Amino acid sequence: MDFALTDEQRSIRETARAFIAKEVMPLEPEVLQRERRGESALTHEELRALQAKARDFGFWGLGTPAAYGGADLPAVTQSLLWSEVGRTFVPFVFGGETDVILYRANAEQREEYLLPAIEGTRASCFAVTEPDAGSDLTAIRMRAVRDGDDWVLNGEKTFITRGREADFSIVIAVTDAELGYRGGFTAFLVDRALGWTSETIDTMGPARPISMAFDDVRVPHRNVLGEVGDGFRLAMEWIGRGRYVIPSQAIGAAERLLGMAVEYATQRRTFGKPIGEHQMIQAMLADSEVELESARWLVLLAAWTVDQGRDPRHQSSMAKLAGATMANRVVDRVMQIHGGMGYTRELPIERWYREARLWRIYEGTDEIQRRAIAKNLLSGRRRIGGHLA
Ligand SMILES: Cc1cc2nc3c(=O)[nH]c(=O)nc-3n(C[C@H](O)[C@H](O)[C@H](O)COP(=O)(O)OP(=O)(O)OC[C@H]3O[C@@H](n4cnc5c(N)ncnc54)[C@H](O)[C@@H]3O)c2cc1C
Repeated sequence: MDFALTDEQRSIRETARAFIAKEVMPLEPEVLQRERRGESALTHEELRALQAKARDFGFWGLGTPAAYGGADLPAVTQSLLWSEVGRTFVPFVFGGETDVILYRANAEQREEYLLPAIEGTRASCFAVTEPDAGSDLTAIRMRAVRDGDDWVLNGEKTFITRGREADFSIVIAVTDAELGYRGGFTAFLVDRALGWTSETIDTMGPARPISMAFDDVRVPHRNVLGEVGDGFRLAMEWIGRGRYVIPSQAIGAAERLLGMAVEYATQRRTFGKPIGEHQMIQAMLADSEVELESARWLVLLAAWTVDQGRDPRHQSSMAKLAGATMANRVVDRVMQIHGGMGYTRELPIERWYREARLWRIYEGTDEIQRRAIAKNLLSGRRRIGGHLA
């Protein structure tokens, strides 16, 4: 067993860290100001300019197949890079990536949706959640009814990330209510121009998802993504990827926050000594370090399982649960260590505190991860410590 990074992994990680520190982190004060004024943290043009710079360093299409100009990196390396991205709260992501299920596009759809989405000239979003179906996605109700060469979509979606900027959405709808999620859901590529309407949802964090209303929206049959009836499987595939990307980012954020706490604990003095000499402060630092490292190895295990070509769902659920809950405990302790200053808007801790809360909710809540992990054990599908077998 070898816990060391390879030379290549270390070099890629260090280059990414230097890039984020030099090009992205300096934008943090401006991002805080803009968010507080209710503006977008980064304009589309600013993000694309940063992505173009990152491309010069070789960071383009981390998980994108080489055939599309991507780096097609192993999941472990991608996870390491997502952690580097997570070290800043600037909403930066490397370019050249798109929704993983968009690779199911056929030749015609490839030109119209996949390639522009990879290049960043057309933005996408992914819509499965509905007002009455979030954790239980088998309960979605949006209907798609075939009418000649079209499908007619009616219903609502909600909490859709990147929906404000999206030129098109991947929408999961019910095409056969009797079959339900077992072959009765289908994925559609739906251009904004086809007529869905939307409203922005205000949240406690920087996220500004949208709700979408579909009122007799006609979608040509050629816009079916994958096969008719394949929608639930595609939705699960889309969500599955997030289960190691989100905690990878959470690890980067926790690393940076813990670093701030260590620094503060050596500088801030009370009762004649640095607060880092008080045992209760030390306990918070130590617990954070232990939990951060535990989550890190679970996340890398999930990514490694992907690279092994094995089913990563069990490990990914553990990684998502561990990463999201760990980051929330760490940011809370880091705020505590900073005392009153931690609660102010002079420091970004409160901002991270609000953002981190989302990690426990979207792409499968804590409870849904626990449910999946426990069901795997109870059914015998997974053995305790089975990944070592
Ligand atoms: C900012 C944001 C961005 C999002 N982005 C997207 C997006 O881009 N696309 C998209 O389709 N969706 C998106 N979502 C939706 C998100 O994935 C759901 O909100 C999430 O899965 C939870 O669903 P829900 O809100 O309906 O909660 P519910 O499913 O109603 O759950 C309510 C509570 O009950 C618990 N619960 C539910 N079932 C069980 C159970 N069996 N056992 C124990 N507890 C249970 C849940 O854990 C939760 O605590 C986003 C959400 C947010 C807030």
